[in-house]
Amino acid sequence: MIDPKRYPRQGLAQLPTPFERLNRLAGRLGAGEIWIKRDDLTGLAFGGNKTRKLEFLIADAKRQGATVIVTAGGMQSNHVRQTAAAAAKLGFACEAVVEDLRPEDATYNESGNALLDRLFGAKLRPIEKGGDVEAALGEAEERLKADGEKPYVIPVGGSNPLGALGYAVAGIELAEQMRAVGADRARIYVATGSGGTQAGLLLGLHAAGMTGVTVEGICVSRDGDAQRALVTELMQETARFLKLDPPPADAVRCDGGFVGPGYGEETDEMKSAVHLLAGTEGVLLDPVYSGKAMAGLLAHVSARKAARDQPVVFLHTGGQPALFAYQGTFAA
Ligand SMILES: *Cc1c(COP(=O)(O)O)cnc(C)c1O
Repeated sequence: MIDPKRYPRQGLAQLPTPFERLNRLAGRLGAGEIWIKRDDLTGLAFGGNKTRKLEFLIADAKRQGATVIVTAGGMQSNHVRQTAAAAAKLGFACEAVVEDLRPEDATYNESGNALLDRLFGAKLRPIEKGGDVEAALGEAEERLKADGEKPYVIPVGGSNPLGALGYAVAGIELAEQMRAVGADRARIYVATGSGGTQAGLLLGLHAAGMTGVTVEGICVSRDGDAQRALVTELMQETARFLKLDPPPADAVRCDGGFVGPGYGEETDEMKSAVHLLAGTEGVLLDPVYSGKAMAGLLAHVSARKAARDQPVVFLHTGGQPALFAYQGTFAA
């Protein structure tokens, strides 16, 4: 069993997050039960999934006596935004290597998460699209050390075993909520990128004895095979770190059919999903992650891959600030 008390943890998230039924959406689709786990409502600086990982990562930084948190992501990274907020809250400086994915797009570079990062006082270090993020992280770490700082480096997405522990704990929380409503044999949909969310969730659900659930990772940046390899490796590494038995490797399911042209690139299915959830449930999805994950859920439900009598659960991982950076995408 997972004992989160064995690991230092900094309270940052409002937990447990709500677990609610989406009746109007289910009615519109002619589907059975659809539930949503609101990890967009973790609370810190507009919320999102990274806050759960940061509870363990920031506590570790504190324990190590760090002075500055260093991390990386795309210019509209939700992970960078939540990390910058957590750093501000705990009194750390923050530096982020950000990949300049759309150098010509002023809205993209100045609105949404990029705007918020600057409000939290984070220093953004842009690198060119496709640049070497790991090398840039290493350089920042060395430069800060030479300046007499104690940097603590959090990998892209907070996806290492300590970060994934945040999602193992979330899996246990979700298992309890699913059992309470008799939805313990559900098919769970979640966006999967750097992999820590899916890897941790699988471990937590397994540790909670949820043998009847299926987790469908909907890829946002890789094809299904590459994503499955990434998540499987992180899941196994995290299981060793937590001294747990991992679920069987075939529990790792990743559908690469909804990425579209690439990470952060819009698709028609994503746009329809964002409009549908806003218009039927008053729920905001985001263009990069949860919009594509919902597009996957909708396609599976309509293809009846998710049989009508099997409940469906959508894990909403947040990301809404990016909507403002994509205003052209959603302008009528
Ligand atoms: C980072 C992120 C994800 C993906 O989580 P990973 O742990 O990186 O796979 C999903 N949704 C949103 C909104 C995110 O910011």
